[in-house]
Amino acid sequence: MADPRPRAFVCGHPISHSRSPLIHNFWLREYGIQGGYERCDVPPEDFARFLQEFPTIYVGGNVTIPHKESAWRLVEHRDDTAGIIGAVNTLWVEDGRLHGSNTDAYGFAANLDAVVPGWERSAVATLIGAGGAALAVVHALQSRGVRDIRIVNRTLSRAQSLAHRFRGGTSAHGLEALPEILSDTSLLINTTPLGMHGAAEAAIDLGPLPASAIVNDIVYVPLQTALLADAAKRELRTVDGLGMLLHQAVPGFERWFGVRPEVTPRLREILVADIEGRR
Ligand code: NAP
Repeated sequence: MADPRPRAFVCGHPISHSRSPLIHNFWLREYGIQGGYERCDVPPEDFARFLQEFPTIYVGGNVTIPHKESAWRLVEHRDDTAGIIGAVNTLWVEDGRLHGSNTDAYGFAANLDAVVPGWERSAVATLIGAGGAALAVVHALQSRGVRDIRIVNRTLSRAQSLAHRFRGGTSAHGLEALPEILSDTSLLINTTPLGMHGAAEAAIDLGPLPASAIVNDIVYVPLQTALLADAAKRELRTVDGLGMLLHQAVPGFERWFGVRPEVTPRLREILVADIEGRR
């Protein structure tokens, strides 16, 4: 007989690095739910078959690199957010159809809500980077009413196409424009892998930022990137990327297991210990 306990997954390739099982299995224990959440290593050539077959075993799951865009193409129904962002990171079956959503924009905004409430009154948001994560960040900023969104990227054409896609208050710039752009930026977000463990550091001079600015790095390994350390030294308000990871997991867990989970200090401490190699 099949196991009646609800199980969910995170699928990607590779997948051993994913911290999603730590988060969801913490919540399963916390809420006394008899269920499971596990990693599935699915190479690209097997992904379409995996999507067809998983409902016999799982109630749903997360999708990560390199499958987010394929999932967007292959699901039978996307919610509005996934439709706008062009990538799916959360799957479930509803009325016999495969549904997909993208919870990164929610996670980004919920993290800022928790750490710097009122952030959405920022008049000017500047993001560095124009890749997959930037799509979710721009969508979140627009949804929360930020009117002046400046996209700064190494490859200007990519910033331009992102600005065009989300037109209405967006503008595109090359990295050389940063000093001027920062002088009236209220919220600075790094959406590039710069600063990530093993990658180059983000060599950004924060000197021109106003003293009231908020600096958010969505990189979370290490937790305190060189960018955040520099911002803290300048007594700017800082927000790390771990909260985005934690909050983006909330809607999926609620959908699969029927309880809206809370991002608590204890959950965060478990992830911090893991990132710092203490567990
Ligand atoms: P991506 O699609 O590959 O985009 C990377 C972006 O960074 C591009 O705009 C790229 O510029 C820029 N970039 C890369 N290397 C650079 C360098 N050396 N100098 C200047 N710019 C550089 O990646 P992604 O999926 O958006 O992810 C970006 C980061 O966000 C990753 O570190 C990821 O772990 C993190 N992330 C965190 C969360 C969270 O929950 N906290 C969620 C999603 C992603 P070009 O266009 O010029 O190549």
